[in-house]
Amino acid sequence: MSIQEPLLSGLNPAQKAAVTHIGGPLLVVAGAGSGKTRVLTRRIAYLMAERGVAPYQILAITFTNKAAGEMKERVAELVGPIARSMWVSTFHSACVRLLRQEASRLGYGNSFSIYDQADSLKLISLVAKDLNLDAKRYPPRQFQSMISNAKNELLGPHDYAAGTQNQFEQVVAEVYAVYQRRLQQANAMDFDDLILKSVEVLQSFPEAKARFRSRFRHVLVDEYQDTNHAQYILVRELVGSESEGMAPAELCVVGDADQSIYGFRGATIRNILQFELDYPNATTILLEQNYRSTQNILDAANAVITKNESRKEKNLWTESGSGAQLVGYVAESEHDEAEFIKDEIRALQRDGSSEPGDTAIFYRTNAQSRVFEEIFMRSALPYKVVGGLRFYERKEVKDLLAYLRVLANPNDEVSLRRIINVPKRGIGDRALDYVDAYAQSHNLSFWSGLHRSTEIPEMPSRAASSVNQFLSMISALHVLVEAKIRPSVIIEAVLEQSGLMAELSSSSDPQDEVRLENLQELVAVSMEYESRPIESLGEDEEISLAGFLEQVSLVADADEIPEGEDHGGVVTLMTLHTAKGLEFPTVFLTGLEDGVFPHSRTLGEKNEIEEERRLAYVGLTRAQARLYLTRAEYRSSWGSPTYNPASRFLDEIPESVIDWRNKGTASSSFSGISKRRDFAAPPARATGKKSVAIELAVGERVSHDTFGLGTVLSLAGEGDKAEATINFGQYGEKRLLLRYAPVEKL
Ligand code: ATP
Ligand code: MG
Repeated sequence: MSIQEPLLSGLNPAQKAAVTHIGGPLLVVAGAGSGKTRVLTRRIAYLMAERGVAPYQILAITFTNKAAGEMKERVAELVGPIARSMWVSTFHSACVRLLRQEASRLGYGNSFSIYDQADSLKLISLVAKDLNLDAKRYPPRQFQSMISNAKNELLGPHDYAAGTQNQFEQVVAEVYAVYQRRLQQANAMDFDDLILKSVEVLQSFPEAKARFRSRFRHVLVDEYQDTNHAQYILVRELVGSESEGMAPAELCVVGDADQSIYGFRGATIRNILQFELDYPNATTILLEQNYRSTQNILDAANAVITKNESRKEKNLWTESGSGAQLVGYVAESEHDEAEFIKDEIRALQRDGSSEPGDTAIFYRTNAQSRVFEEIFMRSALPYKVVGGLRFYERKEVKDLLAYLRVLANPNDEVSLRRIINVPKRGIGDRALDYVDAYAQSHNLSFWSGLHRSTEIPEMPSRAASSVNQFLSMISALHVLVEAKIRPSVIIEAVLEQSGLMAELSSSSDPQDEVRLENLQELVAVSMEYESRPIESLGEDEEISLAGFLEQVSLVADADEIPEGEDHGGVVTLMTLHTAKGLEFPTVFLTGLEDGVFPHSRTLGEKNEIEEERRLAYVGLTRAQARLYLTRAEYRSSWGSPTYNPASRFLDEIPESVIDWRNKGTASSSFSGISKRRDFAAPPARATGKKSVAIELAVGERVSHDTFGLGTVLSLAGEGDKAEATINFGQYGEKRLLLRYAPVEKL
């Protein structure tokens, strides 16, 4: 058997053509499940096995670090440990590697910090405060998103200022300029900077560009439809052109315009639709056979996506037969929805058709996971929520990481401010304001400002001496970093020296015990990091505190998906955005209600509805064999309860492929339900009808959805404002607004 056999076996002719294509830019456009990612993986293997390409000459961009890991593993099976010199990663990880080598050209240190959304928002708020901007009129979040948009368009503060059209944008320009300066002073980059600064390196420093260009002879990009303008230019710079005296790299991008779901982050389908214009000698290959799903599932997905006007017509087909019908279920409430799904997962397991580990539950927003969690937990159904309030976003974990970041990069202002008074050391906000003012007026970093705190006239001497104690603790810890001590040991030292550990272990708050466990978990994560086999490290990587921090700051939601074929035997819960690129034998697509999915924010905008519809297409096409479509007539998860009509996407699916287990009340109007449910129904936002508060008397026994049984102690107010104080035993006394309370008389 020739070596070619296993590499090309199991590929259809179009896929083979893409794997073996030589020369000019290659675009593979195809619907979901048609083997795009498979083509990319095989192509990398083929380049090495058949075309003598060395792993270090390859740059492959994938959506998640997890996908990257899989690709590397496959290639390692083929060529051995040398596979590690191949760059397979997300855009952000690749840029970090590039910048660790090149950032000094732009005036950054190599150990720059990477700011996540929360860090960046913190710094923007500081800047806005310094500029005396009223946070009500100028919400920092809005600055953040406008600055992010500018960066995704590769507009620096100057370019942005030059193009402002109104007074508000002028304010943004000012904030942007100061924010960028503060980032640089802090030796920090936000996520958008990683791309922007990489482009800047390539465009401003020809010798740096030549180095990367002569190295990367092959550039491959998965999920190309979700690249934004900055990423697009990054790829273009890396590939290069003939005119630069070096043959361009071979470019291969794969994607599906129908799955573009990051428009809100500046991704532009334009990049895929106009690939042929941008690269005039491009070859385009279409894949039309789907290997993932049954025909019924594809029929549903195709029916939905054809409702988008701005798209190229294409049709997916499969040889795997029509398969089971989709199952539709209209639940009364989100609790019923979760109950139904739990029962169904159990039933599928009992009759041997699907295991919990083969199952995924998708929803539009993270908050929707809570009800599933409650109900799964109660019935001991093992599950894992991907995303949401992630481990690395927890306060105590961020505190500990901030210590580590300060040790790696003392100029990191946001991290310094975060920890300087955690645990409490008597260094208040006022003292920090003095330091800040002093540092600004002497053109010093915040860190240098702290070192001069005894020279600051307004500074109370107690605070100044606390600052000095803090600084000497940090410098003692810093010695460990210089000595290249293992990260886990450094973390243990920080926990002890900082007082974080002592504070939590002396507390009687049970939550603090959980926090302590989380900190210990971070020690475990660092030990895992240290035990990585040397072979798995790239040639320019080493085990270090900086390396550990880098890994931690680049974890994406999708990286939390339990590994292995059966996902660790647990049901996986995630948002639709995180589901991209994945597949599961059994899928529950939930919350199919107008206002939930499509999201209420998008209802009035044609472009946004089209993006939501693509998201629906992504969701539907994750399913291999069984697809459930569910919605709730009544949903209370966001404080004020609502009745939402069926999602328009549900209506777009042909009735013939759906088997309705429960169609709900004939009209999903509010009145139908309040008759069946004998409690004070919530105001119906969607229908505009008003509800009536339940009538109670003192001493009456009631039952509440969450708090269980209770006794009415007293009543107050009337009509809309009627409230009752009810004793719920172990939950204590609650004052409930009756119009909203899910309370029934016993
Ligand atoms: P998405 O658009 O969702 O990212 P995709 O186009 O990347 O999908 P893949 O994930 O590569 O599709 O493939 C979908 C499934 O089909 C995978 O399980 C893959 O192994 C399988 N597959 C792809 N091509 C073939 C083939 N020629 N023969 C058999 N199975 C295939
Ligand atoms: Mg894919």
